[in-house]
Amino acid sequence: MAALQQARAAVWGGGRTTEIRRFPIPTAEEDGIVLRVDAAGVCGTDGHLFPQTTSYPAILGHEVTGTIVDMGAKANRTINIFGGPVSVGDRVVLYPWITCGKCDGCLTYGSGTCTVCSNSFVYGIPYEKLGLGGVEGISSDARLYPHFKGGFGEYLYVYPETYMWKIPADMPSEIAVLLDPLAVAVRAIELAIMSPGVVEEAFTTSSTVVIMGAGPVGALAAIVAREMGVERVVITGGRQTRLNLAAELSQADATIDIRTTTADERIRQVRDMTGGKGVDVVIQCANVPDAFVEGLEMIRRMGTLIEVGNMVNTGHEVAIDPARLICGKHARIIGMSANSAKAFDKAFHFLKRHRRIPFEKLYTHVCDLDGLHQTLSSMNDGDYMKGLLTFKDRG
Ligand SMILES: [Zn+2]
Ligand SMILES: [Zn+2]
Repeated sequence: MAALQQARAAVWGGGRTTEIRRFPIPTAEEDGIVLRVDAAGVCGTDGHLFPQTTSYPAILGHEVTGTIVDMGAKANRTINIFGGPVSVGDRVVLYPWITCGKCDGCLTYGSGTCTVCSNSFVYGIPYEKLGLGGVEGISSDARLYPHFKGGFGEYLYVYPETYMWKIPADMPSEIAVLLDPLAVAVRAIELAIMSPGVVEEAFTTSSTVVIMGAGPVGALAAIVAREMGVERVVITGGRQTRLNLAAELSQADATIDIRTTTADERIRQVRDMTGGKGVDVVIQCANVPDAFVEGLEMIRRMGTLIEVGNMVNTGHEVAIDPARLICGKHARIIGMSANSAKAFDKAFHFLKRHRRIPFEKLYTHVCDLDGLHQTLSSMNDGDYMKGLLTFKDRG
C-alpha cells in the first residue's frame, strides 16, 4: 500500500522559531475543501506573533490564496463562496475568520463579524494569542488533523462556514492575496465616511485626509482614499522605502518624514496646508501610542480620527487634554479592530476595479517556504514593506 502523500509547512513553535515539517495531505470531508496554496501574505500580525510563546505549534499565515484540489459534494453549500459555485482547479481567496453564528456577538453584529464572536477560528492565528476571550472554535494546533490550518504551508484545509471569493482568471494570486489588508483599509475609510448627522462632514470630495503610518495598511488606506476622491492625501511615516511606495501607489499630495520633523512641526505643516483649520480626517495606521494624540491635534473642529494602528501593543498609555482635543473639538474618534466579510467583498471589488494600480510593488520581500523564516526576521528592516510567500516555483 502506498504511503499517504505528504506536504510541507513552516511550523511556528514560538520564540522566533519555525521548523519545516511534513504532514499527510488531508482529503476533503463532504463539507470541506482542500487548497493547494498559491500565495500567502506576511502580515504585521505574523511579525507580532513570531517572537511570542505559544502553547502549541501552529502554522501562521492568514492572508491566503490557493487552488482547489479536492472538495466535498456539499462544499458549495456549506462554504460561503462568492463568485461560485467552484470546482476543482478554481482559485480562491479567504476571509480568515470563522465565527459560530450562535453567540451573543454573532447575533448582535451579524455572523462573520470578527473579534465579537465567542467561539472563533482564524486561519493562521492561534485564537488564544488574540486575547479576545472566548473559546477556540477549532484548534489551530498543527499536530492535529487536518494539520494545514494556516497559509504558510503547501496546502490548506477549508472548513465549512468559511467565506471565500473565486478569483477571476485575469487576477494574479499575488494580487488577490492583498484582500485581507485591503479590507482593513476599506473598513477604516468606510468608518470615516459614515455620517452620524447633518452637522459633521468628514469624508467628502473637498476633504484633506492624513494617513499616519506608511506600512501596507497605511499605503492601502491612502490608495482607497485617493480613489474615492478626496481633495488631498497626506502620508506620514518613518521609513523611506515605505513612504516612497505609499506615495507612489496612492499619488499622495504630500509626505512627511517623521524622522526629520517633530510632532509640533508636523501638526503645523498639516494646519498650514488647510488654511490653519486642520484636516478633516486622520486614519491612524501607525503602531505608536503617541500618534493617536498627534492625530487628534491634526484634525479640525468636528474632524474624524479612525484609530487602526494601535491594535496590538496593549499596556502603553498617553496623556491627552480631553476638554481641548475631544469635547472642545467635537472630535469623532472611532477605534477599529472588528471587520466583516462585507468589507472583504468591497475590497475584492476594489482589487478587480483598480487593476492599473501596481499593487505588487508592496512586496519588498518575496520568498519560498525555506526563505520564510528569513522574511519573518526581516520585518523591522528599513527596506521592508510587505513579505509574500509564493509557491510559484514548485514543480
Ligand atoms: Zn493580515
Ligand atoms: Zn459567535
